[in-house]
Amino acid sequence: MLNIVIFGAPGSGKGTQSDKLIDHYKLFHISTGDVLRDNIRRGTELGKTAKGYIDQGQLVPDELIINILAQVLDENKDKASEGVIFDGFPRTIPQAEALEQLLADRGTQIDAVVGLEVPEDELIKRILLRGQQSGRSDDNEETARKRLDTYHNQTSPLKAYYEKQGKYLAIDGLGSIDGIFDLIKKALDNR
Ligand code: AMP
Repeated sequence: MLNIVIFGAPGSGKGTQSDKLIDHYKLFHISTGDVLRDNIRRGTELGKTAKGYIDQGQLVPDELIINILAQVLDENKDKASEGVIFDGFPRTIPQAEALEQLLADRGTQIDAVVGLEVPEDELIKRILLRGQQSGRSDDNEETARKRLDTYHNQTSPLKAYYEKQGKYLAIDGLGSIDGIFDLIKKALDNR
């Protein structure tokens, strides 16, 4: 069983590297951003609430997102038996504390946090490129800059939080997709 958090700023390559990690380690993928976008597409109440925050580059409130995560974990107990990759969660210290508790209640824990480290100017470039390709409504320059501010203010303190626990693996997120994935595999396998 291997539970991983993939961590980094918007545009750092979390989704891309998650796909490769899922294949390689047979993990179950939980992306809170994907869950929210799916709710927006289906027009649910949750989707309507989430859209307001997402389009402003802000975080959805902790309580809401923690409840969603608990629900996704419980609905996918069988699929998650080999381990889970958490993508886009936690994004705040209270979310990290809640995740620890949720996993402890289920007899498991986070084993490693893969931190993709990418310079700011490259992040903006990648987000704008993704916006052109995927049409994600929050991948425009104004929202991208707000999301980066949100990341610096609310999410980046998690690096120190997980470093203190000895779980943070710093990965240079600049380079080819396969090259970065090799660095991740080495860091995970040499823990
Ligand atoms: P992502 O696809 O992970 O970049 O998420 C897109 C947007 O969904 C974020 O900018 C937030 O508005 C919202 N979101 C996703 N995950 C979380 C989370 N763990 N906590 C709060 N908001 C989230």
